[in-house]
Amino acid sequence: MRFYSKTFTVVSFIFSVMLFVSCEKEDISTENYKETGIESSKETSLIKYLGAMIRAEELTDGQYMIGGDMIVTPDQENDNKSYSSAGVGLWPNGVVKYMISQQFKDEDAKVRPHPFKNYDMKKMLEDAMSTWTTATGVSFVEVDSSTPRREYIEILWGSSNSSVVGYNSPFPKKFKISDQAHQGVYLHELGHTLGLLHEQQRVDRDDYIIIHSDYINDSAYEKFTANPILDYHTPSLDFNSVMLYPSTEYRGDYNVKKTNGQPFTSGYATGVLSQGDINTVKAMYSGGNNCNTSGNLPNDVSCDHWAFNEIKFMWQNGYIVGNGTSFDPDGILNRAQFAALVAKVINPEPIRDARNFADVPASPNRHWAYDAISKTYRGGYMSGISNTLFNPNGRLTKEQLVVAIASGKRLSGGNNNHLRLFSDQSSISSWAIEKVKHAIANRYVTNYPDKDKFRAQSPVTRAEAAMIFYQVLVDQNIAPSINNPYLLIP
Ligand SMILES: [Zn+2]
Repeated sequence: MRFYSKTFTVVSFIFSVMLFVSCEKEDISTENYKETGIESSKETSLIKYLGAMIRAEELTDGQYMIGGDMIVTPDQENDNKSYSSAGVGLWPNGVVKYMISQQFKDEDAKVRPHPFKNYDMKKMLEDAMSTWTTATGVSFVEVDSSTPRREYIEILWGSSNSSVVGYNSPFPKKFKISDQAHQGVYLHELGHTLGLLHEQQRVDRDDYIIIHSDYINDSAYEKFTANPILDYHTPSLDFNSVMLYPSTEYRGDYNVKKTNGQPFTSGYATGVLSQGDINTVKAMYSGGNNCNTSGNLPNDVSCDHWAFNEIKFMWQNGYIVGNGTSFDPDGILNRAQFAALVAKVINPEPIRDARNFADVPASPNRHWAYDAISKTYRGGYMSGISNTLFNPNGRLTKEQLVVAIASGKRLSGGNNNHLRLFSDQSSISSWAIEKVKHAIANRYVTNYPDKDKFRAQSPVTRAEAAMIFYQVLVDQNIAPSINNPYLLIP
């Protein structure tokens, strides 16, 4: 319940009941396996959306559903017919803020039964977010209830799938995903969240596909009506898009085919973003605002650096420094620099008396990290290599870094399953194993470049150090959580 106020939970529950009472979860059958996305069978009416009159389903809170799973709002009723900040609302700085329902976090609810396999919904969601992030640079940031309600999307477990389209909404924004959803559905709904619409509804779609509407049931037909609302994201229909329902959608009897009569799959079916999806979202969030380079940045950490957002935060807030304007992210961290980070980020209370080290003099040539090393030693985060030497220029291995922080922060939790994810778990020293588990359980551990390799004995780079200290700041509620694809999510 860490991020959830009681009020918020109650409110979200009431909303769920209000909106979706007619389709609460029933049995899990193969019939239900197909995504329908229909929230309720409300009255439909014509609304003006992005410059066109289109048929929409009225929802109980004043929003509208179009295309079966896209929630739009009155403030999107304007004449702008393009993907832009004036049309489909874009998420500021390319950052999608979200709050995930406790339903996804409860251990007994995390893995839902499925007709064919067990899906870990939280992992699927995070994988889909990572996929969009890696491909396009947009990011997804989990927020807490101190964030104004209109600024984030609430992710709920539902009996069907739907999402708001883009950011531009004064209403609470909702995203619903069912336990029947496969990976393509997660990517698809997040595509709506970012502002994408359906490829099969583009106004020129009859040039590419034939909709055999006789075979589509009434509730699903809404998903296939052509809407003249946008200049769609690619010049021609994108058959690989996750925003295109494949031939097998609904009943599996090829009710949508290419004009040559052939059935087709799409990214929706395969769970893979198309180049068109990627290029469109990049273009929508162009200008580098998905990788926001505003403000003071080190000159050697570019947008495509794997820890860009974390390093940026720490640099701009004075938690890390470099040599003038460069940070040297791939340089090896030394013990004095580690102490400087501990002192700056954690600022530990002393638990033992100070010790003087011959290689960290106070005078006459005071070591640059004298105060930090003293604070770090007294806080119990580091000891010397002997009673008289600290070895400030020595390196730390990954396991030493993780153990030092896990011990100092007195982290707990975790289990052996975390380590089984590693193809190199045997390289972890026996004295480090428990602490590594604690650190993973608390979302402190990042594995770069291979998520399944802990690299226990590798020296730590400055970027890796920035990354773990960033997680400390997240844990201390100082920095926002960032869905970095290399962060281990227990
Ligand atoms: Zn959709």
